[in-house]
Amino acid sequence: MTSQNETPISVTRTQRPGPRPDDATLAFGKVFTDHMFLMDYEEGKGWHDPRVVPYEPLVMDPATSVLHYGQAVFDGLKAFRGKDGQIRLFRAQRHAERLNKSCRALCIPEMDVDLIRRSFEAIVAADHEWVPRTRGTSLYIRPTVIARDVMLGVHPAHRYTYFVICSPVGAYYKEGVKPVRILATDTHVRAVQGGLGEAKTAANYAASLSAQQEAERAGYTQVLWLDGVERKYIDEVGTMNIMMQIGEEVITPPLAGTILDGVTRNSILQLLRDWGHTVSERRVSIDEVMQAGRDGTLREMWGTGTAAVVSPVGELGYKGEKISIGNGHTGILTQKLYDSIVGIQYGEAADPHGWTSVVKAPVTA
Ligand SMILES: *Cc1c(COP(=O)(O)O)cnc(C)c1O
Repeated sequence: MTSQNETPISVTRTQRPGPRPDDATLAFGKVFTDHMFLMDYEEGKGWHDPRVVPYEPLVMDPATSVLHYGQAVFDGLKAFRGKDGQIRLFRAQRHAERLNKSCRALCIPEMDVDLIRRSFEAIVAADHEWVPRTRGTSLYIRPTVIARDVMLGVHPAHRYTYFVICSPVGAYYKEGVKPVRILATDTHVRAVQGGLGEAKTAANYAASLSAQQEAERAGYTQVLWLDGVERKYIDEVGTMNIMMQIGEEVITPPLAGTILDGVTRNSILQLLRDWGHTVSERRVSIDEVMQAGRDGTLREMWGTGTAAVVSPVGELGYKGEKISIGNGHTGILTQKLYDSIVGIQYGEAADPHGWTSVVKAPVTA
């Protein structure tokens, strides 16, 4: 079989470009660009007809399978405009590979990885003027695959649509990196071994909502998820991976079946190892963390994800006890990690691991 790398992507430009919002007014995922990427799958025909078209609603029969049984996966990555005017994608190849991994977990036929990566480049090139200019802002790219069978039988679908939409997003931290308060829950679980925790799928997000709502009602920002069997070991925080520094050791839970393999997690572990830190991917119990909090060895704790890069944890609640981390201030290592990743993303710092790729588009300062 030949690689689809050379498959042409057709481009149909909109006749009615929309107004582009002011960088200062940007939030997260509220405004969408002029175009979208589409590709279809049909059994027997495979993935076909990759194209950039004007952004428009997807018209669906109410019996479309994704609406009933949630056979849907997505990913999320960003394009950044540097001071040099160049637009860079951060780790596009790894995001493309992960989208395919999520597809496999939900019985969705895989796509050509090169074609996925080219779909990101094609949509960003088509909407390059939508990549905002202010440092801290970016163009969020949301690739998604949905099942399109029109019938109510439960089975992997025979038809799918892959689409990519883009949204200019504001700086996550408008007034500097800010710590959050998180609540460990032992009443809800996010994922179990053998389940969907390793896939970026709509179902995991639906499963997280009620615990998130409870945490918010109790005055917290995010849920700290514990493992589904013993409700003892830390899994993730909200929809981010979790890391902490206890003494000299940086710890993050291992990729052992329930945790999403975050691109930010991977990048941060690489930087820490480059810098000579002791990094452990090991199970860490909530009791160990609470004890480290009490005896003062829990130095820093942070979540990692594309939206925020890092999200420092200033307070952790569990079974009625609260521990404060770093007096509610962003830790030195957390801040250094944030600055380093962001520097690479905007093309200001060296990129020794080749994480960024420049999108071929007119350079506008
Ligand atoms: C997307 C996601 C992350 C973070 O992954 P990044 O690739 O770093 O954005 C972590 N956990 C969950 C559950 C996620 O869905």
